Amino acid sequence: MKVTFLGVGEACDERHPNTSILLEVEDNDGETRTVLLDCGFAVPFQFWKYVADPDKLDVLWISHFHGDHFLGTPLLLLRFWEMKRKKPLIIVSPRGGGSNIEKALELAYPGFMSRFAFELVFKEVDEGEEVSIASFKWMFASTEHGQKNLSIAIDTNDGKIFYSGDGKPTVATEEIAKNSSLLIHEAFHIEPSVPGHGTVQGVMEMAERVGATSVACVHVQRDVRRAHQDKIRKLLAERPFIKAFLPLSGDVVKVGKS
Ligand SMILES: [Zn+2]
Ligand SMILES: [Zn+2]
Repeated sequence: MKVTFLGVGEACDERHPNTSILLEVEDNDGETRTVLLDCGFAVPFQFWKYVADPDKLDVLWISHFHGDHFLGTPLLLLRFWEMKRKKPLIIVSPRGGGSNIEKALELAYPGFMSRFAFELVFKEVDEGEEVSIASFKWMFASTEHGQKNLSIAIDTNDGKIFYSGDGKPTVATEEIAKNSSLLIHEAFHIEPSVPGHGTVQGVMEMAERVGATSVACVHVQRDVRRAHQDKIRKLLAERPFIKAFLPLSGDVVKVGKS
């Protein structure tokens, strides 16, 4: 599986685009499935740097409805229309995703949805559900965040990917994160615990408890990232049996065999 970090920033970081991850993974038939995890304000510009084909994306996952995680969607769809996308796009999100995305699109580009030559297939999910999407098993669990946010774990032939969205880990998120090959978690601060967000320290403790093979810390608060790089890297290196890193936009990691 190819994992591209399109962005690793929080909402307001002028140096790092909003956190978003592109997964390209082979299904049982050897076909590559492409999944985009979150689509904030700055993400469409990043997406088009790496994806030229308007029909390549199979599934968009939206973790919650803060702007840095979903308000890039109208622009993404506008350019799909411009580029004459034909393939239906599956958009998976917590409850309310369909109406939120339609409202945002109507505000940004009134009347455009009726012009799309591709179908939007909304799939709204809740904590505890297990569904099969794009031939993989997806699991969902709520974090502690200012707004309802779902973390996901996707079981693929190349291992399990966990992505937190925003928020502090919970018993439920730890359950679905068990034995992740790659645990991608927001770490807004370093330590100690802050309400509604993850911390580098907390994420490393979670990774150890759930037996993750590797960990990527993203969505680090911009001033914390600037002032405390060394401290963050030190914390990431403290558990040598877990490959932990602080990715930058454009970084690519391979998970599993394909
Ligand atoms: Zn955020
Ligand atoms: Zn948020």
